[in-house]
Amino acid sequence: MAGWDPALWEVAVSDAQGFIELLAAIVGPRNVIGPSDDLAPYVTDWRERYHGQADAVVKPANVSEVSQVVALAHREGVAIVPQGGNTGLCGGATPTAPGRNLVIRLDRMRAIRAVSPLANTITVEAGCVLADIQAAAEAADRYFPLSLGAEGSCQIGGNIATNAGGTAVLRYGPTRDLVLGIEAVLPDGRIFDGLRALRKDNTGYDLKQLFIGAEGTLGIITGAVLKLFAKPRVSLTALAMLPGVEQALEVMGLLRSHVGDRLGSLEIMNRSQIEAIRDHVPDTAIPFSLDTPWYLIIELTDTLAGADLATPLEAALGEALERELISDALIASSEAQAKAIWKVRHSVSEGNKRSGLVVSHDSAVPLDRQAAFAVNVETRIRAAAPHAVVAMHGHIGDGNIHVCALIDRARLTESGEADRVVALINGIVDDETRLQRGAISAEHGIGQSNRGRLARVTDPLELDVMRAIKRVLDPAGLMNPGKVLMD
Ligand SMILES: Cc1cc2nc3c(=O)[nH]c(=O)nc-3n(C[C@H](O)[C@H](O)[C@H](O)COP(=O)(O)OP(=O)(O)OC[C@H]3O[C@@H](n4cnc5c(N)ncnc54)[C@H](O)[C@@H]3O)c2cc1C
Repeated sequence: MAGWDPALWEVAVSDAQGFIELLAAIVGPRNVIGPSDDLAPYVTDWRERYHGQADAVVKPANVSEVSQVVALAHREGVAIVPQGGNTGLCGGATPTAPGRNLVIRLDRMRAIRAVSPLANTITVEAGCVLADIQAAAEAADRYFPLSLGAEGSCQIGGNIATNAGGTAVLRYGPTRDLVLGIEAVLPDGRIFDGLRALRKDNTGYDLKQLFIGAEGTLGIITGAVLKLFAKPRVSLTALAMLPGVEQALEVMGLLRSHVGDRLGSLEIMNRSQIEAIRDHVPDTAIPFSLDTPWYLIIELTDTLAGADLATPLEAALGEALERELISDALIASSEAQAKAIWKVRHSVSEGNKRSGLVVSHDSAVPLDRQAAFAVNVETRIRAAAPHAVVAMHGHIGDGNIHVCALIDRARLTESGEADRVVALINGIVDDETRLQRGAISAEHGIGQSNRGRLARVTDPLELDVMRAIKRVLDPAGLMNPGKVLMD
């Protein structure tokens, strides 16, 4: 605790500079980024849609420092914004409060505290970058399955706070299913020590669940115990070309019959989506021709070295061809080919970001409703906003197809129509999501982008309970205000 003096607590702080000096006393001056530094990267979201303001950004080194920083901000009435890798897609990590804000980043809390191949667990600090956790698991001959396009920069604290999904949910579940224990700092600075590695624990309410998917509104996650799995020893990637989502679902059924649990990932993209990547991400080659409406990436894995994946996959795809569910398929014959196919999938967010104004959606609908959802949404958006390109991609086995309307920004700004068109498209997607008994966010969260929509589409009883929980843990409303719930 560099230079921390409890007597400082007695000093009433009335200005930002005094506050910054107290922060520096807790974490050391080098770990406070203040108004004379460049704060822009920390108050702007990944999509560059939101720009907030902050008194400072602070980088504590351990849970005790996080606790002291939070307690200080709580005393001073300063809003706290937890920030991980700042790759979130809903503006959750960007300050919104008009008054004083403090961004807390856990970049210095990157320790892998323990890896247990016996218990199949890894205990990490919340600032660990996701790719580093995957690598630590690999070094212990184990596997941490959470995988997404931002894995080189997002942090596990952010992944847990957003209950991130990604490409391995089909087999391993979302982040919530991968967390055994959590340590978190509450909005008043108290430390919740739930860093337990228990597979079974029926002692009352499962409090750690409150922090998973709460997007930093109930506390700051500082550490976690995560599940590890047996390492896949063999994998095989294929790409199938098909006419629609309905056929993709039938192919999924066929794959389940032929390969069972070896089905690791099933990712779908429509042609417009891949064209956006082709046109805007020049370093991503498209290693197949674009002549069918939909593309399905299939990945099989097995933990047994030498397991034969090709025979059952060929059988499944052969049957799909015979039944005219797919028009063609290619099976990657090398790791390089598999990587090239996956690179296309991982370039989606970048391609869309560079396409102009993106009205993006993250709905989840029951699996058997996905085809109707995709067709209805596309038809209605095309009718309402003919200049929008309807790009779709997503995790078909999870019932989660992302609908992204890509619109020429200049054209919309000139016509002054942006707000009306965005509201129109949001209305269509919300309407169809509700019709199919779905949820407006499957994995990206609510943040600041979707809280108005959440308030509109959620059962009032559920909203009441959420607000009551928020009031109990954060009565002053200082923990990531302006996110998830309407005030
Ligand atoms: C290229 C790209 C691809 C993506 N692909 C996917 C995908 O496939 N699936 C998916 O689910 N998401 C995806 N995302 C979104 C994003 O990467 C995830 O939401 C990720 O989990 C956010 O982690 P982060 O560390 O960047 O969090 P941030 O963006 O920094 O924060 C996100 C939210 O979590 C809160 N938070 C951050 N750290 C903490 C903490 N320690 N304690 C409490 N709250 C905290 C923030 O306040 C904010 O509300 C993608 C993003 C990009 C840029």
